[in-house]
Amino acid sequence: MSDGSLLAGLEPRSFWGHFEALTKIARPSRHEEPVIEHVRAWAAANGLEVKQDAGRNLVIPVPATPGRESADTIILQGHLDMVCEKEPSSPNDPAEGRIVLQRDGDWLSADGTTLGADDGVAIAAMMALVEDASLPHGPLELLMTVAEEVGLEGANALDGSLLTGSVLLNLDSEEDGRLTVGCAGSTDTWIRITTAREPAADGAASLSVSVSGGAGGHSGSGIALGRSNAVKVLGRALREAHETVPFRLVSLDGGKSRNAIPRDAAAVVSVAADREADFRSAIETANATIRDAFAKTDAGVSVAVSPGEAAADPWSDAATTTLLDAVALVPTGPLAMSPDFDGLVETSTSLGEAITEGDQLTLHSLSRSSNDAAMPDVIATLDAVAGLAGGTLEEKFNYGGWRPNLDSAALAAGKTVYERLFGERPIVTAVHAGLESAVIAGKVEHDLDMLSFGPQIEFPHSPDERVSIPTVERFWRLLVGFVDEASKPAGA
Ligand SMILES: [Zn+2]
Repeated sequence: MSDGSLLAGLEPRSFWGHFEALTKIARPSRHEEPVIEHVRAWAAANGLEVKQDAGRNLVIPVPATPGRESADTIILQGHLDMVCEKEPSSPNDPAEGRIVLQRDGDWLSADGTTLGADDGVAIAAMMALVEDASLPHGPLELLMTVAEEVGLEGANALDGSLLTGSVLLNLDSEEDGRLTVGCAGSTDTWIRITTAREPAADGAASLSVSVSGGAGGHSGSGIALGRSNAVKVLGRALREAHETVPFRLVSLDGGKSRNAIPRDAAAVVSVAADREADFRSAIETANATIRDAFAKTDAGVSVAVSPGEAAADPWSDAATTTLLDAVALVPTGPLAMSPDFDGLVETSTSLGEAITEGDQLTLHSLSRSSNDAAMPDVIATLDAVAGLAGGTLEEKFNYGGWRPNLDSAALAAGKTVYERLFGERPIVTAVHAGLESAVIAGKVEHDLDMLSFGPQIEFPHSPDERVSIPTVERFWRLLVGFVDEASKPAGA
């Protein structure tokens, strides 16, 4: 770090030096070669061997400091890639290694771009820790993954046989003061229902029914906020209208991503011209009830009718009933709460997308649980919906959950060190979303005792990304304290 650096004078000095060096190296997901070379050169300079798997993840074994040789091996883990976002007008671009640091009091950010504190802090901390011979630790394995930000691709391709450690410290948490001890696994499912279309009745009117205005949000961490799911709201309004006004469904589409609660959905229906007014008023009635249902949790949601494109062959009457029943049956929302943490969802499922293609309606859900044993029942429910509707279920297991273990030795050591250093208790928690550690645990043959923590990082993945400088020092002290505590010889 040069003396003129914005970071001059910050502690720990060697951490900030490594962090600043990383801001000058392009490391977008799937294009980590320059930063891999940087790490290789650093390892060579420090006499360390670098192992790399076919997925391009790095594992760097580090010998224990004197007297700590018999301790359990700890895996320190973070990801090499970063989300490279920029303001359109900014000349800076992380994808080309141009991050210009800026400081606002205790906050460090980048001018017009993402900062890459997610997860540059992990890589810089590993390097600074290993270099400093005065910091005691047992045998370590530095696990630096690639392509975390694109669906945990690197971790998914990890060769777990490169790892021998029994404790894993994930350094990719973004909330200071917290020790994270669990996360959700996930499975995607697609219900596919192919059913008959028939020519539209003579003179039928074509109408479009659309849902918009909901707040949406992350389908895992935001699943218990009571937000409306536009596909479910659309299905509900249509089904309610269908009880009094016959119509035939032409198409039903909504949602943009498996990961987000759908905010928009639209259907086209074919209705007898002399029942159009009745249909409109039935949707209006449904809209009023739906808005009332979400008055406190998603007040913006609404259902509207407009003229639709003429459709020659809607689904048949029977098919329409089946499809609306299927949408009504697909569960969405929290299914079980955590037995360990108040207010945390353990199991949920979210209907993320509805897609009409020809005669087929596809309903794509993402189900999550930190309790792997709970998941088969969720999948069975979706499978039953598919079965009742005469359709099929395709299932894709992504990764298992990380089930909180409150008796974990790693957690006990983390709490002890935290309390000793900061004179207060950490918040022990879990997240209802995916973390790389869950994937990694699934790739390693032996059991891993896992813990995750990090400094305070706000607005990650956006040009507003910033890291709190004082919490970086706390993060560093906790990391140093942990590897010391966990490697102390018995009775010391
Ligand atoms: Zn990250």
